[in-house]
Amino acid sequence: MKSLLLACLLFTTTTCSVTEAAHKDTVYVCDSPNATRYHYKQNCRGLSNCSHRIIAMPLEKAQKSNLTLCKWER
Ligand SMILES: [Zn+2]
Repeated sequence: MKSLLLACLLFTTTTCSVTEAAHKDTVYVCDSPNATRYHYKQNCRGLSNCSHRIIAMPLEKAQKSNLTLCKWER
């Protein structure tokens, strides 16, 4: 996860700046059919056992998908 952030800092791509602009409304979700939680922190312990990709999405979209805030981040 740290390397992803570092890559973002090193290569200021359009994708990275868009991500940063929406940062406060961006949450992270395990891209698993069984995922029920969203996370504010990409390195959250709740995501550490995700065996799928971790995807970023707007908070609004996560809530509309019936995902609830991770129990570690309440
Ligand atoms: Zn979490």
